[in-house]
Amino acid sequence: MQCPACGYPEMEEQNRDETLSYTDRSVTVKNLKGHFCPKCGEGIWDSESNGRLDEAQTDLIEGVRNEVGAEVRRIRKVLKLTQAQLAADLGLGKLAFSRYEQGKTQPAVVLVKLLKLLERHPGLLEELRQTDIPPKRVSTLIPSRKQAAE
Ligand SMILES: [Zn+2]
Repeated sequence: MQCPACGYPEMEEQNRDETLSYTDRSVTVKNLKGHFCPKCGEGIWDSESNGRLDEAQTDLIEGVRNEVGAEVRRIRKVLKLTQAQLAADLGLGKLAFSRYEQGKTQPAVVLVKLLKLLERHPGLLEELRQTDIPPKRVSTLIPSRKQAAE
């Protein structure tokens, strides 16, 4: 098999372990088969190994999302708010917490940090509610940002 990256004519068949990382988690998938280029290091997994890697990656990401989702839900319950109430207080869409808590979307790190602050200092919620961003200003920002992207 020729190396698709550098053109070296004979990639070598090897068994390897591969470690996947996501946030602070990692998982090692053992005994994967593939062809590797001794010249440039390019590697191509065979399809069975590629499937196992895909599956491990999906499990890793879902595991982290579910764990973050459970933490978000726990804090929301401590704050005694519905998903819709907390979303409104933070200026997020109605369904945001449903997606976070089900592990469908991973919330931004800054949001998780904010929730942890609110858990420790629930009185800040009232301050957040009083922090208004003037809507006019937000809507005038959107078209100018679009223009910049074109
Ligand atoms: Zn190569």
